[in-house]
Amino acid sequence: MAPDSLWRIPSRPKCVYLTFDDGPTPEVTPWVLDLLDRYDIKATFFCVGDNVARYRSLFEMVKLRGHHVGNHTMNHISALTYGSKAYLANVEKANMLIHSELFRPPHGWLRWGHARLLQKKYRLIFWDVVTRDYSNRIVASQVVENVKKFTRNGSIITFHDQPKSWHNLQEALPAAIDWLIAQGYEFKLL
Ligand SMILES: [Zn+2]
Repeated sequence: MAPDSLWRIPSRPKCVYLTFDDGPTPEVTPWVLDLLDRYDIKATFFCVGDNVARYRSLFEMVKLRGHHVGNHTMNHISALTYGSKAYLANVEKANMLIHSELFRPPHGWLRWGHARLLQKKYRLIFWDVVTRDYSNRIVASQVVENVKKFTRNGSIITFHDQPKSWHNLQEALPAAIDWLIAQGYEFKLL
């Protein structure tokens, strides 16, 4: 992948970066915001432009509560099916709404041409911990296990504030946060 893409950012004291993709959605995002407030944790939300356009006040709420926002394309498009120019145009369209230098490609897929263009303007943020919270094939305890198994100092952990994740998130997110706190991790913003 592109040379200055970010997958993990270790520091002292040890830390993690909580990230939420695909929102904002009225079904899940308000619940996530309330939960993070209860823990006094700030996170980074990679938003889909289409959702931002649809749920403006929710998007504003994410920022108002002290979280950072990043760009996750306008329509959650894949870099495998869009040429670099069309892809960049879609990202730019989302940026008109999101106004962030942070970019995360849907599915984690980018081609070199896309990455080269995007890096002129954006910081490309990937992850090293995929919780798979959206998967129907795993249950909440397995989502938490993924966090426990793969998290290291500086890990960028990905959850999804969208309905597909809801069946796991309600139980897995607080459990994962409790475990991270017990391990002594601090929570940082990208
Ligand atoms: Zn996504």
